[in-house]
Amino acid sequence: MSDELRDLYQDVIIEHSKRPRNFRELGSEAHKAEGYNPLCGDEVTVYIDIENDMVKDVSFKGSGCAISTASASVMTELLKGKSRAEAEGLFKTFHDLVTGRGKNGADMENLGKLAVFAGVSEFPTRVKCAVLCWHTLRAALEGKGEAVTTE
Ligand code: ZN
Repeated sequence: MSDELRDLYQDVIIEHSKRPRNFRELGSEAHKAEGYNPLCGDEVTVYIDIENDMVKDVSFKGSGCAISTASASVMTELLKGKSRAEAEGLFKTFHDLVTGRGKNGADMENLGKLAVFAGVSEFPTRVKCAVLCWHTLRAALEGKGEAVTTE
């Protein structure tokens, strides 16, 4: 990755962590799940409203480091209007990306904004911050009542 690209990615992460998108609760009809990352102290609650198997609305609340907040912000922005299957696909693609398994894979082309988190794979302790919201999203989709933890 070039320094220029790295700086650009860094800017996007900082911008999203300072002004997170969809940072609000959804009504009682929405699915929700809570997630914790004890390693860093990140806490997130993800809300998702599914209608006809499509993501009608998705949002989050919580407190955490810049990476976890930016990741949740970008995730909610991307998921709106996607089908449940597309959401699952993005989860897998993102997981592969931040754990370093997605490099040079065909899916990389479809990452869009998620690509800003490519650098996270170089910092193993940060991977959990980045994937926390996605694991929590999956729990919300599956309707599990238990809190998710990265440990
Ligand atoms: Zn964190």
